[in-house]
Amino acid sequence: MKNILDYSYEELKNEIENMGWQKFRADQICDWIYRKKVMDFEQMTNLSKKQREELKNMFYVQPLRILEKKVSRKDKTTKYLFELNDGNTIESVLLFHTNRITACISTQVGCPLKCLFCATGQSGFVRNLNTSEIVSQILTMEKGENVRISNVVFMGMGEPLLNYENVLKSIKNIVDPKMLGLSQRHVTISTAGIVPKIYDLSEEGLNIYLSVSLHAPNNRKRDKLMPINYKYPVEELVQAIKHYSEKTGRRVTIEYIMIKQFNDFQEDAFELAELLNGLKVNVNLIPYNPTGITGLERSNKNNVKEFEKILKLKGIEAVIREEKGDDIDAACGQLRARRLNKNR
Ligand code: SAH
Repeated sequence: MKNILDYSYEELKNEIENMGWQKFRADQICDWIYRKKVMDFEQMTNLSKKQREELKNMFYVQPLRILEKKVSRKDKTTKYLFELNDGNTIESVLLFHTNRITACISTQVGCPLKCLFCATGQSGFVRNLNTSEIVSQILTMEKGENVRISNVVFMGMGEPLLNYENVLKSIKNIVDPKMLGLSQRHVTISTAGIVPKIYDLSEEGLNIYLSVSLHAPNNRKRDKLMPINYKYPVEELVQAIKHYSEKTGRRVTIEYIMIKQFNDFQEDAFELAELLNGLKVNVNLIPYNPTGITGLERSNKNNVKEFEKILKLKGIEAVIREEKGDDIDAACGQLRARRLNKNR
């Protein structure tokens, strides 16, 4: 049996027609699931009893199982621990801003990239998430909190561009007006820099935002932080970023973690400005969040401010990212996969 959340709107419509039903039934089903968050065919009362039976024989639909929910005392940031059907677990985070609610979602169980500063990579890579598991994170949190999520960032566990097909399909369902219906401009995909996939993504005709985790102004420093840099070094990454923004017209966000006495020197700021010179980018400076495994430390506030000042002086747009959810380990880099005791 198939999870109905793995279908695109077009695919679902085709299935529905193949069953001999009228097309508008697909719209009704999508309305129940994506708008009303009804995850039970039995409750879809504008379908006949016979139709509901038929659906149940063809598909299943279920929210993710919530194992744990933590709420930050500081800022209401909420972290969910979900269990997948095979017993693996993932985390997702909901961030409350004054005028928007952002879901930070995962794309893999674990991550293969092993960035030095990130907790997710430490637990290794287990598998890619499928489309339904990606989209269900949003649906389950919307249902759980009784809110409408306005923004989605692919910044949870995993490297989205290493799960390209499923991530792309989930984006399409997230922005499809018949499904979740978010504005493309409210969707951001973040990558550690899988260069060929950045080129692929720029050909998809999407209007979403791209964020790139750069974190260092040169190969010498980036090699130390991110092993993927051996495969796709800084010069190639910068070319890909340039291509993406030219092709899509979008400004690309550059993420830069500020690590004390490592990449937060004034020379680093000058070198970064030089590297990004002429590109349509916006640098997000992110104070490093301790993960308890690295010995790295976060930069002083003043260094971060000084860094921002230099970038701006050199004509590079920059902001310091506000921090949320660090008291519940929900901040950037603090999500991890956990092994479950199967005999619960
Ligand atoms: N794999 C993707 C998306 C997940 S990470 C990527 O690398 O972009 C989302 C952001 O959090 C990335 O910019 C990542 O580098 C950053 N991050 C990871 N660990 C961090 C930490 N300890 N402190 C601050 N930011 C961190």
